Amino acid sequence: MLNAKIVAELRHILGSEGVIDRYEQLRTYESDGLTNFRVTPALVVLPTTTEQVQAVVRVCDRERIPFVPRGSGTGLSGGALPAANGIVISLARMNQILKVDLPNQRIIVQPGVMNLWVTQRVAPHGYYYAPDPSSQQICSIGGNIAENSGGAHCLKYGFTVNHVLGMKFVLPDGNVIEVGGPTLDTPGYDLPGIIVGSEGTLGIATEVTLRLMRKAELVQTAMAAFAHTDAAGEAVSGIIAAGIVPAAVEMMDKLAIEACEEAVHAGYPRDAGAVLLVELDGPHSEVATLLSRVEQICRAAGATEYRLAHTEAERALMWKGRKAAFAAVGRISPNYIVQDGVIPRTALPQILREIEEMASKRGMRVANVFHAGDGNLHPLVLYDERVEGAEHEAEQLAGDIIRSCVAHGGSITGEHGVGMEKKEHMTAMFTADDLATHQLIRCALNPDNLCNPNKVYPTPRLCGETPGKYHPHPAELAGLAERF
Ligand SMILES: Cc1cc2nc3c(=O)[nH]c(=O)nc-3n(C[C@H](O)[C@H](O)[C@H](O)COP(=O)(O)OP(=O)(O)OC[C@H]3O[C@@H](n4cnc5c(N)ncnc54)[C@H](O)[C@@H]3O)c2cc1C
Repeated sequence: MLNAKIVAELRHILGSEGVIDRYEQLRTYESDGLTNFRVTPALVVLPTTTEQVQAVVRVCDRERIPFVPRGSGTGLSGGALPAANGIVISLARMNQILKVDLPNQRIIVQPGVMNLWVTQRVAPHGYYYAPDPSSQQICSIGGNIAENSGGAHCLKYGFTVNHVLGMKFVLPDGNVIEVGGPTLDTPGYDLPGIIVGSEGTLGIATEVTLRLMRKAELVQTAMAAFAHTDAAGEAVSGIIAAGIVPAAVEMMDKLAIEACEEAVHAGYPRDAGAVLLVELDGPHSEVATLLSRVEQICRAAGATEYRLAHTEAERALMWKGRKAAFAAVGRISPNYIVQDGVIPRTALPQILREIEEMASKRGMRVANVFHAGDGNLHPLVLYDERVEGAEHEAEQLAGDIIRSCVAHGGSITGEHGVGMEKKEHMTAMFTADDLATHQLIRCALNPDNLCNPNKVYPTPRLCGETPGKYHPHPAELAGLAERF
């Protein structure tokens, strides 16, 4: 419970419609897409301007109240999980497109604008916004920035970080700064680069300048089916080794195909062991030449079926299956954990075999969906929470998979972030000195750890120590645990 005087002050800043304090409404905000972590916040506020965000943050700083920025709550790593006794700052009402500058291929938006709205706004003029998470209809630009979100087309066009030019940003002490700018390179440290991917731990983005892309002359999508993921993996390696950079290469295994067909009837062959979606874009002549190479490579790798989308409707249907894959898995399992790991592309067949072995040892099933071109796996660990111990078992298996990705020289996350879920896996990737240096950045901008506390890093660091020399005293940790 927050002190009534503070709640009244926040109501004065935001108006009654900008403050939520009824328990049953607060529960809507208790988790993001990773629902096995839940904390009910003390209060939710919904500002509409940078000035309101600034005023709320100033109150939090003065009163030492932890606060958590939130976009649409589709995150899959617990990044927007509220702090107990803290305030959730929802950016949902900051949903305006502020300026469209087509000649310079820029757009300025508030953080609560949905990813897809950007493309919808500029598509009639031949432009689009490249990063396209599968959740693009419902996830916000602010959330995308915090997670450095990716999508199917990031193989060729890069992640969110490659498309954010500048930001208005409210620091955890309430100061407002402008980082980056309308040009492709700005002098000084790359502050947008530090903020993008910082998972809401450095402050709140309140205005964002994004880069727009020109639509390609031609976009063509092909579906290739294979008897086994090994053959599909071989085709992916063959395509990349041939020097072809498709706009997207996505793969689904047998269980994922089954789920997609149940849910959206995308037309994938139900008897296939793996399906690849390969999309090429560019000038007509280039796409035609490269597509015939892709077909040859897929057939040489043993494709049992190869089909081109001849109309926009056929192309949309091919993609509908892939984009709906996470939700579709609900058709074949009551519960599932979406894992997100990265491996070097060449390790794909081996890791898939390992996942199969690890799952069968535990008597579990894993459906695999992945951005095959950049080695980003999304194993979906299926379980039934009504079975005692099943959730724990699924979490263990999800952890084993991530450790295996790291052992293959990969990463614990490709695009969903570390958040709450994976912070204990950070030590598998970084040394204590590495982590202490990361935390120096957090300490510089968020020294009191009030802004999205205790996310991403396994040990909360008190600020002011030399990197690598810091070993938190147990009493400090206990003190922090009490505060948050
Ligand atoms: C079905 C489904 C499919 C998905 N597919 C993909 C995919 O293909 N690629 C991908 O990358 N992700 C994917 N995701 C994950 C998720 O959609 C992304 O991480 C997305 O960027 C989160 O946006 P959000 O608005 O929901 O943010 P939230 O979940 O609300 O928040 C995410 C993080 O951003 C911080 N944050 C939010 N707004 C701000 C702000 N204005 N300033 C500072 N910090 C902020 C929060 O504190 C939190 O740490 C998927 C999720 C689902 C449910």
